[in-house]
Order: sequence, then C-alpha cells, then structure tokens
Amino acid sequence: MSHSTDRIASFGENRYIDTRGAGESPVPFTQAVVNGLAQGGGLYVPQELPSLTVEDIVALAALPYAQRAAAVYKAFNIDLPDETIEQLMERAYGTNFDDEAICPITSLDENTHILELWHGPTSAFKDMALQCLPHFFAASAAALRERGEALPSFMILVATSGDTGKAALEGFKGVDGVSIGVLFPDGGVSDIQRKQMVTTTGDNVQVWAVRGNFDDCQTGVKKTFSDEAYAQTLREDYDIALSSANSINWGRLLPQVVYYISSYAELVAQGKIEAGQEIDVCVPTGNFGNILAAWYAKQIGVPIDMLLCASNDNRVLTDFINTGTYDISDREFILTASPSMDILVSSNLERQLFELTGRNADAIRQWMADLNEKKCFRVDEETFRAVRENFSADSVDNATCLATIKQVLDEHNYLLDPHTAVAYTAAQNLRGENPVLVASTAHWAKFGDNVYRALHGLAPHEPLPADAASLTGCQLNELIATETDKHDIPAGLANLDTMEVRFSDVIDNSVEAIEKAAASFLTQQTN
Ligand SMILES: *Cc1c(COP(=O)(O)O)cnc(C)c1O
Repeated sequence: MSHSTDRIASFGENRYIDTRGAGESPVPFTQAVVNGLAQGGGLYVPQELPSLTVEDIVALAALPYAQRAAAVYKAFNIDLPDETIEQLMERAYGTNFDDEAICPITSLDENTHILELWHGPTSAFKDMALQCLPHFFAASAAALRERGEALPSFMILVATSGDTGKAALEGFKGVDGVSIGVLFPDGGVSDIQRKQMVTTTGDNVQVWAVRGNFDDCQTGVKKTFSDEAYAQTLREDYDIALSSANSINWGRLLPQVVYYISSYAELVAQGKIEAGQEIDVCVPTGNFGNILAAWYAKQIGVPIDMLLCASNDNRVLTDFINTGTYDISDREFILTASPSMDILVSSNLERQLFELTGRNADAIRQWMADLNEKKCFRVDEETFRAVRENFSADSVDNATCLATIKQVLDEHNYLLDPHTAVAYTAAQNLRGENPVLVASTAHWAKFGDNVYRALHGLAPHEPLPADAASLTGCQLNELIATETDKHDIPAGLANLDTMEVRFSDVIDNSVEAIEKAAASFLTQQTN
C-alpha cells in the first residue's frame, strides 16, 4: 500500500477523537484501546481515515488473511511498530480458525455471496474481533507502560446473554497481564452456550452463573464498574483495574473493517465481480458494530453502494433508517429466534451519526441526551438524507426467519443460522441490481433448537417434541446433521458433552456477591 512510506514519518499521528467532544485531547490508538470509552462518555473515532484505491484493495487478495489485516492496521497508522502488528495478526488469524481463508465466501448464486464470519473458535462472528482485540489490548498496555505510564494489570468483566462471553473468554485466555471473568444468567442461556463457557481452559479465566436474568447480571456488572471504593481496593491489593471488552471499543471495530476490505478483494480474485464493480452489503444488525464497519470500508474505498440493515422483531434500527426517528419510549423488548440481535439501544449508531453529521459532536451530545431523557431522538433533515443515501433497512419476523432457513436449505442446500436467515431475507427484500454480500454471523449449530424448528415446521417458541427436547444441544445438532446431511459441525461445538466442566459456581446477582467473587478469583490468580 502506497501509504507505508509516508507512515514512517507520521508514525502514530492518527489520533482518536471523542464523538461527544468532551475536551479530552485526541489520544493514540493504544490509549483508545486501553480506555475503551472516551472520558466524556462518547466513543473514539480516528481523526483520519486512510484511503485505498481499488488496485490497493484488489492486491490484498495475494496475501494471507493475517497480512491483509496487518496492511489495513498499518494504513490506519496505528502507534505500534509494523513488526508488532504483523506478529499479533499472525496470532489472531491462524490455526485458531478452521478455514485457511479465515472468513471464506460461499456463493449461493451469481449475485448472492455469503461471507462466513464464524470459522473461529466459538463459531460466531464475535471471534473475528475478539481473537484480535486481546492481543492489541495487551500490546497497547505494554507500549503505554514503556512510554512511562503507570498502568496496572487488567481484569475484563463481561456480562453475557450468550455469545459474547465465550468469544471474550477464548480471546483473552492466555493473554499476558489480563484476566477475564464472565457472568451469565443461571438457566438463561442455551445448553450449548453454557457448556461452551464452563469448559473454557486456561488459567486467567473464570465463569460464574448469576441467579437472575440477563438484566440482573448486567446491572450487577455495571454497578461493579462504577464502585469507586472497589476500584481502589483492586488497585491497592492486586494492582488491577477493571475493563470491559464490549463492542464500542475501537479495537473491536477495526478488525471488522478488515473483513469487508478483504472480502471485496476475494470476490474480485475469484472472478465473481469485476474490480471496481459496486456491491451491496447486508448485515444482521444488533449493536450496529458490524454494519458500521462496512460503512467505514466504503469510506476507505471499497466499492460498496448500499448498506442493507437487517433487524428482527426488535426493529428500532429499521424504523430509524426509514423515518429518522430513534424511538424506544414505547417499545417492548422481544425475545426472538435471533437473540444476538435482540437489542433496543444500539450503541455504535452514535459513531455512525457522528460521521454522517460531518463529525458534529454538539448534535451527538444533544441526541444522546434526548435518548437518555426522552427515550427518543430525531435527526435533522440533512443527516436523515445522508442516512438514506447509505442505508436501507428491513425487519424480518420469527416465522419468516424460520421459513427462510428451510427454503434456503431446499433451494441451495445451504444451512443458515437464524441471524443470517434474517439478513438473507432482508437482502432479498431490499436488493437492487448489485451483487449482495450477506454477512453470516453464526454457524447453524450454535442455534440448533431454532434450526430444528425451521426444518420440522414448528412455530417460533413452540416446544420441541419430547424426543428432541430430551437431547443435549450436541445431540440435537447431531440429529440435524443426519437429517440434513450437513456434517460440518465445528469441533468446538461437537465435543462439548465430553469436556470437563471447570466452572460451576452460582452467585447472587448483588454487586457485593459479584465483587467478592471477582476478588477471590484475583486472589487465586496471584497465588
Ligand atoms: C453480535 C451478533 C450480531 C449483531 O452484531 P452487531 O455488530 O452488534 O450489530 C449478529 N449476529 C450474531 C450471531 C451476533 O453474535
């Protein structure tokens, strides 16, 4: 990439600004990654975006995925040495993925391409970022210490409703100077999801089931984060600071930008599109991280025309894109067949609006205040026009989602997970002439119960028949594999019933119980 020579002169000069303009001076990449959230409560975005030509992008296809990722990070001019970036990317995207291409593309027809983002260790797309961020988090902390900052070690605490917890455990296990504790609602996650978490290996990991639902779990963790006396105790007794690995960290977003750049190069190299030809990208959207990454890829130079935003019955984003009003004042939270998209407050939308307003922090502050106070905000006409120029949106209900899984299996002999099925349907409804790249965010075997419902014509939420209901998640997947002749269940999901359960603690959902459990984990770590 032609930027590499200029870069040496300006090494680390690309700094990160705050979407709410709180007055903190811009920070380098390393600091943005370690801080997570900007001081004023806003999100970090880079001052400058690189710009790549179609030739630059297409040339990436000659490199292995890890080197493509390194090239993109270098183009972003991050303040870590090239060699470090290359080494970390080798670790992030290697044999921990079960496909050499890391995120291969399967084409269902000439113009419909499925980007499989689930070949990592936990079989869901969060691996694409969480196999990468932890290495950059540790390297960033080390770099800041070398520059004289007195940083402690870190403990990542994550409340999870399913997928994020396991992806974070796998990402942070064995990473120096960081430990990770994950809390999930007892009885509130699937058999597969629970087993994935409680069988995690490694010394720096811990998992607790919490009495209560996901909200209780998350509230407890949030209170722990804001308990200053506890923070001081951790710092004094263990030299530890708490940190979160959530999807607003720029270090989770940048790996996602990489795969949109890389997959365009891949489509050209495979002769599926012409260099320079425009494509649309359709993304099953929750927190808006994945689709925002596609927007950044477009800004940087990938010939993307429209970004198609797919929602499930929690359709706040679809309504926003169609009306310009983001309104959760009278919106119920609905449990759907695509639980990782069940979300009301979509935190990465803040970055998107910051960009579409021409980086107007005053507008963002106002809208976020409105959202906080009135549970609703409305963007101005000019911003709404910018939204409409880039995005179109559709929501897909549970029954349609399940019907799509069956239909795509019948028509294309390809098995979609429910999240991808939502995106596939939205893409059919929204697409024009352009080829569409559909982001596939989970392997079907992560959501076997709903795949079973789809294949057997059961309604959403309908109880499984007794013979299927008595199976473990792994056994149910085996049954589906036999019925569909899809024997591609990833090893990490296939073997769960035989793996040792390492974590069986159940704790109360009080902040005291969480703090005590976390401290005792740290004591155990130092011994
Ligand atoms: C997290 C997740 C999503 C939503 O992605 P966002 O970046 O939050 O929009 C979609 N599908 C699956 C399977 C996920 O785990």
